[in-house]
Amino acid sequence: MTESAIPTSQKKALVLFSGGQDSTTCLAWALTHYELVETIGFTYGQRHSVELKARPAIIQELRKMNIEWSRKLGEDHLIDLSLLSSLSETAMTQDIAIQMMENGLPNTFVPGRNLMFFTTAAIVAYRRGLNILVGGMCETDFSGYPDCRDDAIKALQVALNIGMDTRLNLVTPLMWKNKTQTWALAKKLGGEALVNLIVSHTHTCYTGDHTHIHDWGYGCGECPACLLRKRGFEAFQKTKG
Ligand code: ZN
Repeated sequence: MTESAIPTSQKKALVLFSGGQDSTTCLAWALTHYELVETIGFTYGQRHSVELKARPAIIQELRKMNIEWSRKLGEDHLIDLSLLSSLSETAMTQDIAIQMMENGLPNTFVPGRNLMFFTTAAIVAYRRGLNILVGGMCETDFSGYPDCRDDAIKALQVALNIGMDTRLNLVTPLMWKNKTQTWALAKKLGGEALVNLIVSHTHTCYTGDHTHIHDWGYGCGECPACLLRKRGFEAFQKTKG
């Protein structure tokens, strides 16, 4: 092990935090489970920066919500990955309409994006002495992004640890949860206050609509991300009776 490798007795996490529903839930999850939690976000010429703008406000609200969480929250890292938009032409980074492609993936798909995010986070974690990486990847009701798959993340963990001589754990608390279960997890972690924070502060909409507010949050209400969030929230409300 190299000198900057991390003692595994201390659980210090770096959370991939975009300012969306899933990553906010993951951040609350990490704050419940680990001693120190830092956050990392990426700019890469996203179509809309609404999500990124929400990040500092969400962190501030989480601090207010829970004194333990406030104590555990460490540095926030915002990394410029604008390289991604020059490598990849997709509806996520270019001004073109969102539609399904022939291979069944939406044209918002940026190939290898999550692999790049985790790899970049691993480099930051190495420098910061953090041994757990947390991401909101999900195989259950996702858009079919292959690098959200559990096997992809597990394989990447092995590759990173061999290639960097580290003992990093890549943790994905939402991997087998659907959107309804993700709302329920938020409730369990932080009660109605966290659910309300996610509704009012997080952003998921592909079109960047931050003018229309619904029971489930801001968004156009029609894009795939909005529909997923809306249906999940409605089912979650029903389970509450
Ligand atoms: Zn939308």
